Amino acid sequence: MSTTTDGKRQFASDNYAGICPEAWEAMARANAGHARSYGDDPWTARAADLIRELFETDCEVFFVFNGTAANSLALASMCQSYHSIVCSEVAHVETDECGAPEFFSNGTKVLTAAGESGKIDAAAVDWAVRRRTDIHYPKPRVVSVTQATELGTVYGVDELKSIWARAKSHDLRIHMDGARFANAVASLGCTPKEITWQAGVDVLCFGGTKNGMAVGDAVVFFDRNLAREFDYRCKQAGQLSSKMRFLSAPWVGMLEGGAWLRHARHANAMAELLHTLVSAIPGVLVRYPRQANSIFLGLSPEVRDALHGRGWHFYDFIGWGGARLMCSWDTSEEDVRALARDLAELSA
Ligand SMILES: *Cc1c(COP(=O)(O)O)cnc(C)c1O
Repeated sequence: MSTTTDGKRQFASDNYAGICPEAWEAMARANAGHARSYGDDPWTARAADLIRELFETDCEVFFVFNGTAANSLALASMCQSYHSIVCSEVAHVETDECGAPEFFSNGTKVLTAAGESGKIDAAAVDWAVRRRTDIHYPKPRVVSVTQATELGTVYGVDELKSIWARAKSHDLRIHMDGARFANAVASLGCTPKEITWQAGVDVLCFGGTKNGMAVGDAVVFFDRNLAREFDYRCKQAGQLSSKMRFLSAPWVGMLEGGAWLRHARHANAMAELLHTLVSAIPGVLVRYPRQANSIFLGLSPEVRDALHGRGWHFYDFIGWGGARLMCSWDTSEEDVRALARDLAELSA
């Protein structure tokens, strides 16, 4: 792996970015003196309360180290080993978690369903359930949706509700991988509740890292019954932080003044600008609708290598390929213009 040695801001991933000031400052405040351990501290209580306020409901909240743990433990909490989870072919739980959902659920199978631009559609969920109903098939139990998706698109409220209607008719639960939940809320201009519990979501994995924190995801159970003994599940999986306040304090810093949404809006706006600039370059193909903080480009191998040669980092293995350019809370307009300029020169 090559490394970024000059500290230059990149478009490879929103986790290339550092810690935003609001999260950093809250960690510093949490660092003043001693506090109770394992989540029994005022920061963790306050962070959970702020999440309940944000979602306008009495949900149950847990803080874990990362998204893979959040997703796989949340999914495991809803499944028996003979169940299955229906998700998109490009879902992180399917392609990027090294089998952790199957591992933590002791064998629950992930089944993929079709859909456009990183989403699954209600009909595909229906098909995954109906194609077999016999004893030999792993019984579908959960639908997992990613919001915003791995391909930078966003489910609208109506799309979520139509998935919910099918899920409900088959007695399936709904899990939402919200590694970029903030970007989805910013993109839709909706309230968090409209795309979660009001659209049938039972559990949300609310990502903090890509939004500007150092580390951490919140697992938010809207159906509190599903959270039973989840604390034991976290502990057994090595996800119970003894200095929990350093996982939870950043949430306080991000939620209290609205930084979580401000940063997501900024990242989305930078991706929109990048989209506008590169769309004007002849020969550059933009792959999916730009709805959150990334764009995907179809580049020739020559142009791709030349961009790498100019020091730009980006991934080309996500979803169906193409160069993924991802903006973060600290992406600047100059960064965007510099990249677009290089791309225009190299494409000429
Ligand atoms: C980044 C990401 C996650 C979490 O990944 P971790 O590296 O385990 O924190 C989960 N889902 C999606 C869609 C992601 O992009």
